[in-house]
Amino acid sequence: MQYHSTRGLFPEVDSAQAVLNGLATDGGLYLPAQIPDFCWEECVKSDTLSMAEMLLSAFLPDIPDMGALVKKAYTGKFETEDLTPTVPAGEFYVLELFRGPTSAFKDVALSMLPQLMTAARAVKGEKEDILILTATSGDTGKAALEGFKDVDGIRICVFYPHGGVSDVQRRQMVSQEGKNVTVCAVRGNFDDAQTGVKNIFTAAREQNLPLNLSSANSINIGRLVPQVTYYFKAYRDILDAGKIQMGEEVNFSVPTGNFGDILAGYLAKRLGLPVGKLICASNANNVLTDFIQTGVYDRRRTLYKTESPSMDILVSSNLERLLYLMSDDCNLVAKLMNDLNSQGHYQVPEALLEEIQRQFWAGWCDDARGAETIAKVWKENGYLCDTHTASGWAVAQDYVNQTGDDRPMIVLSTASPYKFPAAVLSAIGETANGDEFDQLEQLNAVTGVAIPKNLAALRTKPELHKSVIDKDKMLDFVLAL
Ligand SMILES: *Cc1c(COP(=O)(O)O)cnc(C)c1O
Repeated sequence: MQYHSTRGLFPEVDSAQAVLNGLATDGGLYLPAQIPDFCWEECVKSDTLSMAEMLLSAFLPDIPDMGALVKKAYTGKFETEDLTPTVPAGEFYVLELFRGPTSAFKDVALSMLPQLMTAARAVKGEKEDILILTATSGDTGKAALEGFKDVDGIRICVFYPHGGVSDVQRRQMVSQEGKNVTVCAVRGNFDDAQTGVKNIFTAAREQNLPLNLSSANSINIGRLVPQVTYYFKAYRDILDAGKIQMGEEVNFSVPTGNFGDILAGYLAKRLGLPVGKLICASNANNVLTDFIQTGVYDRRRTLYKTESPSMDILVSSNLERLLYLMSDDCNLVAKLMNDLNSQGHYQVPEALLEEIQRQFWAGWCDDARGAETIAKVWKENGYLCDTHTASGWAVAQDYVNQTGDDRPMIVLSTASPYKFPAAVLSAIGETANGDEFDQLEQLNAVTGVAIPKNLAALRTKPELHKSVIDKDKMLDFVLAL
């Protein structure tokens, strides 16, 4: 299957090469030339791993033995055998995406991506080791380390801002085992680390450095497709529970940052899954709410640091894929992305905005409302959710109140409440005590909700990665690996 860039049709590559390249040469993102033909009903009737196999084979047909890759990626790694359970909570359903090895939804995709990359290397006869470079604000780094550890032919190096991640997140990363992993703190903030990584990619290309680099973030099509699976899985769960008839539409509310997760929901819909509205939930960084309401994307605004840090984003990269999928016009997408780079804003044509609004609804929720929501969902429904999930819940409620739409609502839960214990404790009216590990135990004592094993084990794990470097030393660090 041919893949092309959202910004131009040539040169096309096959699906294995698209996974290896990550980003297209013109700076655009890869998409298949057509949405594959797909029998959604058959997929809904399958078990979870078969769903993943069917979807991945449909999008990445140049990668063989998908069933075996899926088994290798997921078997024994998640707390529950069906990976992503859907549980009823009050008026909504919660789709729990955080039952994987690092307790964040990125595990679903980052468990699979290393298998896809390894297989794609074999298809393409790639002999050299690949080095994955990742800058992280917390969740991606650990999920990528866990996914890529001890994978042959691939090494991974993660940079995180020194003092800029939570103690739990830092301990998760610096205790990482595996013979092919490196973790390093950078004196600076997340943007410094991210810019440093981009500069290394540029230097490697321009100076022809002996580095065979790739990236694990959600611009890679191999990270997007595994996420389509859980939309099908959630649909099957409420079908099996007798809450809907086959073919009846359901809505999804998605806590959104880079637009990867919600775009996977749109792909599920394009494949035929009966999806009604996709609700895009933001925090105080509400650039996507404004965009979906007005058609104007404007990143010229302050980036707020919130209690839902994985959604603190002003440039939402995967939105580019939506613009292409809805307009079928790479010249338009190239122009809009150019406007964004040069002027910091763009506006989409009226017809495109109408189509976006037919499929999506958007809202946002600040930290105070998020805390109220955590408390309300806990007190009324006995369900403990994290700060990101709280945005999804609050915006779903706004949607129902404003539209009266009574189709079943599934709220995606993207992190365990134990990843943000202080914020969750304070939301339910407790004063957080001690360090983050004391707070895990405190939250457990107050709520009785089990602590995920990977987080409980952290306190006693040795710190293996101690490097702290200046931001202008990142290239030297990578060359010395
Ligand atoms: C990454 C992340 C998100 C945002 O997902 P996108 O695909 O970037 O929209 C939401 N919540 C959590 C906990 C995350 O780690």
